[in-house]
Amino acid sequence: MTATTTVPVPAGLVATRRERSRVGRPHARLVWHLAATAIIWLTSLVVVALWVAGGGLQALIALDAETLNTFGRLSGLVSANLLLYQVLLMARVPVFERGFGRDGIARMHRFVGFWSFWLFSAHIVLQTLGYAATAGINPFVQLWEFVWDYPGMLLATAGTLLLLLVVATSIRRARRRLRYESWHLLHLYGYLGVGLAVPHMLWTGADFTAHPLASVYWWALWGATAVAVLVFRVGLPLARSLRHDLRVSTVARDGDRGVAVTMAGRGLHRMPVRAGQFFVWRFLDGPGWTRGHPFSLAAAPDGRSLTVAARLVGDGTHRLASLRPGTRVLIEGPYGEMTADVRIGRKLLLIGAGAGVAPLIALAEEAAWAPGEATLLVRDHAEGDALRRGEIARLERDRGLRYAALVGPRAPGVSPWLPAGHAGWKGADLLRYVAPDLDQYDVFLCGPGPWMDAVRADLRRAGVASTRIHAESFTV
Ligand SMILES: Cc1cc2nc3c(=O)[nH]c(=O)nc-3n(C[C@H](O)[C@H](O)[C@H](O)COP(=O)(O)OP(=O)(O)OC[C@H]3O[C@@H](n4cnc5c(N)ncnc54)[C@H](O)[C@@H]3O)c2cc1C
Repeated sequence: MTATTTVPVPAGLVATRRERSRVGRPHARLVWHLAATAIIWLTSLVVVALWVAGGGLQALIALDAETLNTFGRLSGLVSANLLLYQVLLMARVPVFERGFGRDGIARMHRFVGFWSFWLFSAHIVLQTLGYAATAGINPFVQLWEFVWDYPGMLLATAGTLLLLLVVATSIRRARRRLRYESWHLLHLYGYLGVGLAVPHMLWTGADFTAHPLASVYWWALWGATAVAVLVFRVGLPLARSLRHDLRVSTVARDGDRGVAVTMAGRGLHRMPVRAGQFFVWRFLDGPGWTRGHPFSLAAAPDGRSLTVAARLVGDGTHRLASLRPGTRVLIEGPYGEMTADVRIGRKLLLIGAGAGVAPLIALAEEAAWAPGEATLLVRDHAEGDALRRGEIARLERDRGLRYAALVGPRAPGVSPWLPAGHAGWKGADLLRYVAPDLDQYDVFLCGPGPWMDAVRADLRRAGVASTRIHAESFTV
């Protein structure tokens, strides 16, 4: 621990009534979560019901080639449903964003993605074997006939190859070898893959053509997915960017390896944004502007400007340092559920690593707490790396923030989230030492994914309930 200070909070910096009323509203998230989960489960049940209505069960017990076909159809249907949900989950649809949070969506996207791929593979194999057995021909001949003679199958084959590419590059080892930009571009082909793979079902699948309700369901889901992508990923961000006309106003160094960018815009007091949230930013400063980068707000939004602080790690962040005032900015967002609304009590333990401190500072600025009720732990490799030092000092001085920097290389001990200088500590003990009444705290956690996993494990060991841990990972 390097420093802790407590001073009285001056008038004007105490929480407003609006802020106080926000404390303890986690049930709203539960409602969103239930709604999002219900949508996915209920529509999956609809798919199975349509399959049953199409005679799927009878075919199953026939124990002949039709059994292979009906299994093949079922796996294809569930896979197609999941594939469309894959796209919907990433379309920034508010019900999913609020229900699962970004980290939850990312985990689900990965899980659902691999499942839909295996079911999709089973669909191809089972349908080929089933049709080949019925026709009494070699399965390879059958596969060839599928591709060339069945409506929509050439498109579906192209779609399958694209989806294969996406799955192969999403395997962790392959993902690590690829630059983020290359991986992301390949991943976008997944949209095209889904778009190409789905129509063959609508044109040829017995489960679609046989039952009018089935056709309605699938066309509606396909259409809703396409509309959601267009509306939430393209239309709304563009409209919001035009409405607020954000421009860079100042660019300043932040620590030895960081930069802070402040932007001003029109009618920002009407923007529904909270401290703790992030946007995907595109700065129109020349070629390459199309590559958006997520950055969290590094200051509580004040209705006049938005500020981000970034650690300089690669091309995208280095570009920030050379932005000129007046540069136009496009935004996607705000996203993220790590806001002060989600806390259950008043006491705050804010734990961040590297640039992860940025949203925690914004949260500390916006949230209601009395002197000594908020504690900030910041993990950095070197003292000079620290971001937002000026703002931290101001919060210590003006509001009585308790602050400790955990600086140095990684600890070899039991708690890898601590620096080597703290290797003698068990992380859970250190957390209890910093906040002896830990069960009265809401913990906000932000930084790289693996580091957060280690902190979360120690928080759980120290007895913090998972409902009290609110997190945003900077790892994609
Ligand atoms: C929700 C969220 C909020 C974030 N907030 C902040 C913040 O406030 N301050 C900050 O310094 N950093 C933040 N980051 C991380 C930041 O987005 C990346 O460091 C940045 O995009 C790196 O880009 P680069 O071209 O400079 O580096 P590169 O060398 O290209 O990439 C370095 C690493 O950053 C990640 N990355 C690169 N491009 C993107 C992208 N477009 N989207 C997501 N990840 C990417 C990849 O994992 C990559 O391995 C946040 C990340 C997320 C997911």
